[in-house]
Amino acid sequence: MGNKQYDIQDSVVLVVDDDIAQRLLMTETLLEKGLHVEEAEDGVEALEIFENMSPDLVLMDVKMPKMDGFTACTKMRELPGGRDVAIVLVTGLDDFDSIEQSFGAGATDFITKPVNWPLLSHRIFYLLRASKAFLELRQNEKNLSIAQQIACLGNWDWNLHEKNITCSPQIFSIFGLEPQESGLTHEVFLQSVHPEDLKHVQDTVKKSLEQRKKFSIDYRIVLPGGAVRTVHEQAEVVCDQLNQPVSMHGTIQDITERVKNEEKIYDLAYFDELTGLPNRKLFREHVGQTLFVARREGKKVALLYLDLDRFKRINDTLGHSAGDHLLKKISAVLSESIRSSDILAKSDLAAQSHLAVSRLGGDEFTIMLTGLAEEKDAARVAQRILNVLREPMLIAGQEIYISCSIGIASYPEDGEDAEVLLKNAEVAMYHGKESGRNTFQFFSGQMTDQALERLSLETALKKAIERSELVLYYQPQIDLSSGKTCGLEALVRWNHPDLGMVSPGKFIPLAEESGLIVPIGEWVMQKACEQMCEWQRQGFLPVRMGVNISSHQFRLGDLVATVRNVLKSTGLESRYLELELTESAIMKNVDKVIDILNELKKIGVNLSVDDFGTGYSSMSYLKRFPLNTLKIDRSFVMDITTDPNDAAIIKAIIALSKSLGLKTIAEGVETEEQLEFLKVGQCDEIQGFFISRPLPADEVKRFLRTD
Ligand code: C2E
Ligand code: MG
Ligand code: MG
Repeated sequence: MGNKQYDIQDSVVLVVDDDIAQRLLMTETLLEKGLHVEEAEDGVEALEIFENMSPDLVLMDVKMPKMDGFTACTKMRELPGGRDVAIVLVTGLDDFDSIEQSFGAGATDFITKPVNWPLLSHRIFYLLRASKAFLELRQNEKNLSIAQQIACLGNWDWNLHEKNITCSPQIFSIFGLEPQESGLTHEVFLQSVHPEDLKHVQDTVKKSLEQRKKFSIDYRIVLPGGAVRTVHEQAEVVCDQLNQPVSMHGTIQDITERVKNEEKIYDLAYFDELTGLPNRKLFREHVGQTLFVARREGKKVALLYLDLDRFKRINDTLGHSAGDHLLKKISAVLSESIRSSDILAKSDLAAQSHLAVSRLGGDEFTIMLTGLAEEKDAARVAQRILNVLREPMLIAGQEIYISCSIGIASYPEDGEDAEVLLKNAEVAMYHGKESGRNTFQFFSGQMTDQALERLSLETALKKAIERSELVLYYQPQIDLSSGKTCGLEALVRWNHPDLGMVSPGKFIPLAEESGLIVPIGEWVMQKACEQMCEWQRQGFLPVRMGVNISSHQFRLGDLVATVRNVLKSTGLESRYLELELTESAIMKNVDKVIDILNELKKIGVNLSVDDFGTGYSSMSYLKRFPLNTLKIDRSFVMDITTDPNDAAIIKAIIALSKSLGLKTIAEGVETEEQLEFLKVGQCDEIQGFFISRPLPADEVKRFLRTD
């Protein structure tokens, strides 16, 4: 109390009276009690001082010259700080008119003359204390209002016997309404609630009143302009002694931003940004929940693991934004084909079709199927997806044909939990890819062993170069007119520490998929050229050295630079190096390939088309490639003496080759009859077991000449 007393004693009182004696007496009385006093002798002077000093209380006579107390009082109320200050008017004892008028002028209180001097200061202290409490209340209200504004929070109070709900200004602002002294009617409030949430809100309020319990809900409101906001409301019921509800009060907070942020965070954590599909994390959670139910109810679940075939090629040739576009389209197609699937129980799908498809990353998608009657149903969905994706898609103004490989793993046969099922579906997908893409494949137990073998083979292959496990064999090529060796083809083998000699047919595809083909291809070229130089040094006449080039070396590595480096570092003349390119490698991405081939031609190396006849060469392209040789594939040579079709094809290839000014070499010649046929047919060169199998370097020497 002491402090407060002191605060009040520190107050400034403005004493206004034209009667000097009266004024002095008042001043003296108040000064004596430790108050600060300012004096004015009429209304005009009082207003001046009031403006400068902002007194805490005004004690003013009503009857004064120039400006009377009533007018001064009215004017003070309009001045800054004047609204809440205590103004006490001094009237005559029985001057009832003045007393009446004081109230009308906005006075806080009045005292009558003759003044009761001993009581005056007490009266003033009481008034100062009340005024101070009032000001503090005002300040608190202001603080509360600021706080509510910052928190986007308003409070309301509803006397259940009255129509209107008293609201703080913030409530109006949240609801986008003009503030009204009278508050809001319950109807107006309900009109603002989003129609979809209205019943929930009404039920909650009703239940709260019935049970006399607090409630706390989130719902949406619609502002007069149509904007939708989300609010959080907390309220409680006040009851009378008979436990009958009499009023309710509560708070409403605008939580739109928070909800938005929460949604954004949720989206970032659980959805793929590009396609909007659930990501791996959400998919796993969802599969986990579904399996939980499936276990209890003895239901089947199938996971489809889908990987686009050769998606990388689209990214490489059309650019990443085209790739992104394609992924988005595919997401839509997948979602749609699941939704329209008539195989699945609609009730199962309706609840979760939006979650059934997800993107794991890259070009990999997963689909979860529930409510399957039998395994065949999963196959039907997979087949449907393959069919739909077979349709061309328009991307970046081009018609794109895409296909995919799908692996299927089923619960409970192929795995008990999400992790294992997903892995097994992936393994099945890889199997599908190996057996020719654009298919689906069910998981089987043996696959895991094969996948493991594959994985360990890939790891081992990475180390094969540094451990010098790769070796080159050479197969001679013979000129049919002279019968002399005109070239050698370098064929790589992998001398695996445990598996022995691994044929390129086994590990080259693996190297291509993992990108290891680039360093392996470089190693082969370097080694083969070194070997030819070595033989030259030993006195043998140089012949052409054929090196196989994978299509991946066109895309991944810098083939031209590699060739230049190898020739430079070994010193081999470029005309002795021949690059064997498969038909399918050069028919892809033709324009870029032509540029590279022209560069290579400038360097002076020979270019031949390997396995000719197995791909789809277009004549018009063949003419544009700067080639030297066509290598007729072994599959045609095999049956030339027995199958008239093959004989005809070989004759046609030789004729074609001659018309293009190219040399022909036949691969895989195993018998004398085949050789004779080719000789008669005017094939230029042959290669095959009939002459020699591929040999280690030492053993090739007998095919080389020294003069
Ligand atoms: P390719 O380039 O068509 O090589 C010819 C393949 O036919 C070789 O198999 C060779 O041993 C085999 N061959 C040759 N004459 C006969 C014959 O008379 N009868 C039969 N049945 N086969 C014969 P290989 O060495 O297993 O190589 C297979 C394929 O692996 C090659 O086919 C080539 O495409 C690829 N390859 C081999 N070495 C490399 C390499 O260093 N880099 C790349 N990118 N691919 C390579
Ligand atoms: Mg070859
Ligand atoms: Mg070949």
